[in-house]
Amino acid sequence: MSSGAPRGQGQTVRLPRGASLSDFADKIDANPGSLVQEMFNLGEMVTATQSCTDDTLLLLAEHLGYALEIVSPEDEDRELLAQFHIDLDADVDAARLVSRPPVVTVMGHVDHGKTKLLDAIRSTHVVEGEAGGITQHIGAYQVEVEHEGQERKVTFIDTPGHEAFTAMRARGAQVTDIVILVVAADDGVMPQTIEALNHAKAAEVPIVVAVNKIDVEGANPAKVRQQLTEYGLVAEEYGGDTMFVDISAKSRINIDGVLEAVLLTADASLELTAPVDGSAHGVAIEGHLDKGRGPVATVLVQQGTLHVGDSIVAGTGHGRVRAMLDEYSRPVEEAGPSRPVLVLGLTAVPGAGDTFLVAEDDRTARQIAEQREARKRAAANAYSRGRATLETLMEQVKEGQKATLALILKGDVSGSVEALEDALVKLDIPEEVQLRIIHRGVGAITENDVNLASATSDSTATIIGFNVRAEGKVRDLAEREGVEIRYYTVIYQAIEEIEAALKGMLKPEYEEFELGTAEIRAVFKSSRIGNIAGCMVRSGVVRRNAKARLLRDGAVVAENLSIASLKREKDDATEVREGFECGLTLGGYNDIKVGDVIENFEMREKPRA
Ligand code: GDP
Repeated sequence: MSSGAPRGQGQTVRLPRGASLSDFADKIDANPGSLVQEMFNLGEMVTATQSCTDDTLLLLAEHLGYALEIVSPEDEDRELLAQFHIDLDADVDAARLVSRPPVVTVMGHVDHGKTKLLDAIRSTHVVEGEAGGITQHIGAYQVEVEHEGQERKVTFIDTPGHEAFTAMRARGAQVTDIVILVVAADDGVMPQTIEALNHAKAAEVPIVVAVNKIDVEGANPAKVRQQLTEYGLVAEEYGGDTMFVDISAKSRINIDGVLEAVLLTADASLELTAPVDGSAHGVAIEGHLDKGRGPVATVLVQQGTLHVGDSIVAGTGHGRVRAMLDEYSRPVEEAGPSRPVLVLGLTAVPGAGDTFLVAEDDRTARQIAEQREARKRAAANAYSRGRATLETLMEQVKEGQKATLALILKGDVSGSVEALEDALVKLDIPEEVQLRIIHRGVGAITENDVNLASATSDSTATIIGFNVRAEGKVRDLAEREGVEIRYYTVIYQAIEEIEAALKGMLKPEYEEFELGTAEIRAVFKSSRIGNIAGCMVRSGVVRRNAKARLLRDGAVVAENLSIASLKREKDDATEVREGFECGLTLGGYNDIKVGDVIENFEMREKPRA
C-alpha cells in the first residue's frame, strides 16, 4: 500500500490555488509519480502536471498527514510582488497622506433608475470648466460638488449593477467606498434590491439609499423606508444611521441631495485618506481593445500618483503609460488617489478588479505580467477541470463520453466577460455534464476563436458573443467548421440559456419517427387475448413492441398504444413489411373496426442543433 510518498506529521504545506501534483511533490520532496499513485488509491485519476482543484489537494494532504494551506490569488500576487521587493501595503505611515474622494457604486433592482441616476449626476456636475462638455464612457467618472463651503470630489463607478461589483470583489479588489442603493418608490424593495444590499453588507460598505421615481404617481417613499428596516437599513429620521434621499433621476429632482448624503456618510463613517507620494497602484476597472489605440484600460489609482511614462503592470498586461485620458478625453499628466483614468500603452487588456501597479522599470513590469499570466492559466485550468473519479470515469467509458459543453466567451469589455464567466462557473449543473470555458477575451470574435472552437478535443466549442459580433469572413469560417456562435446583450439571458443547454444535455429530445402504416381488413374476436386486427401493411413496416396510434376516417381515436403481438400467418414476427398481411393486437385495446388505420412509430433521439 505504501507508495513511497513521505508522510507529514501535520507540517504545513503552502500551495497556490490550482497547483499540480508535481508542485505538491516538490514541496514535500517526493516523487510526483508516487502522488499520482496515492491519488489513484483515493479514487481519483490525476496526472502529475494537471492542475488540481482545492478538494483534490486537500484530500491528498489529509491522506498524507500534511496541513495544507491553499494560497488565495491575492496572497499569491502579494508573494509574487514580494519577489520583486514590492509591498503594496508598506510605507503608508511614512507617506504624506491626503484625503481622497469617496468611490461610489450604484446598485439596485433592474429598471429602478441606476443608469438614469448616473447620467443625472454626470450631466449636472461636470468638472469645472467643462460645462456642456461631453463625457465619454470610460468606466468611471469624477464630479465636483460644493459641500459645506468646500469643493469636494466624488468618483463614480459608471457600470451600474452587481456584476461589476462582485467581479471585482471576487478578485479581492475593494474598490467601492459607498454604495448608492437605488429603490424605485413606485415599485418598492425587489429581489435585486436585497441582493445588492447583501453584496454591500458583505463588503462592509456603507449604504446611501436613493428612493427614486418620486415623480411617479403612486410613489410611496415611506413604504420603501419601512420595507428596508426589515433588512437592517433604518433611516436617520427613524433613529437609524442610514441616509435616505428622495429623488427623481428623470426629472433631476434632488440629485444634489444624493451627493450630499454620500459625502456626509463618507465623513461620518470612513477615513478616506491615501498616500499621494510614491509610485501608484490601484485597480483596473474596465478594459477593452480599441481598434486604433490597442488595449486601453481604465484604472483607479488608490495610492500614490500615476504619471505618463511610468512602467506599469495591470493584470497580465504591461507597458509604459503612453497617455492618460480623463472622462472628457482630455489628456492627463498625473493621477492621484481615487482618480480614474484611461491608460494607453498596455500589451493586454486587464480584467475588472485586476490590480495595477507601477514597476521600477519595463523589465520588471514585463516579468510580473508574465508570471501573473502563467498563474492565471494554471488557475483557469483547475477551475474548468471537473473531478474525474474512477467511478465517473467508468461511466464515461460505459456511456462513451462525458457530456461536455465547451465555451469561448467574447465580450465588449472585460467586466462583462468576467461577470459572465463568474456566473457560469457558479452554476449549479448536474454532475453528468461538464462546463469548460476554454477561452475568454475582449473584442470581436476572430478567426482564431473559431479555430480554437473547432480544435477543442471534447467537442466543438460554442462561441458566446456578448455585445460583440463576428464579421463576414469569420462567420463564413464558423459555418464551414460547424462552430455555433450565439449573440447576447443581456447577461442574465446568456446565463439562462447556457444553463438550459447544460440541463438539456442530460435530457435528449425525442422526435417521432414513422415506421409504417397498416389498414385493418378484418377483426377477429378472441376470448383469451381480445380483439385481433387482421391487417395489410400499407407502407413501411409494422414492428412488434413499437408505438402505435389508431386513426379512424383520418382522425386519431386512440393514442399511446403499442403493437403487443404480431404474427405473419401462424408465426410470431418481429416485423412485417409493406404489401404483406399480418395479425396484431394492441395490448388490450379492443375498440378497433375494419377500415381503421394503425400508425406505427418509434421515438428517436433528436440530434441537437
Ligand atoms: P436601471 O435598470 O436601474 O439602470 O434603470 P434605468 O436608469 O435604465 O431606468 C429604467 C426606466 O425608468 C427608464 O425608462 C427611465 O427613464 C425610468 N426612470 C428612471 N428614473 C426615473 C424617475 O425618477 N422617474 C421616472 N418617472 N422614471 C424614471
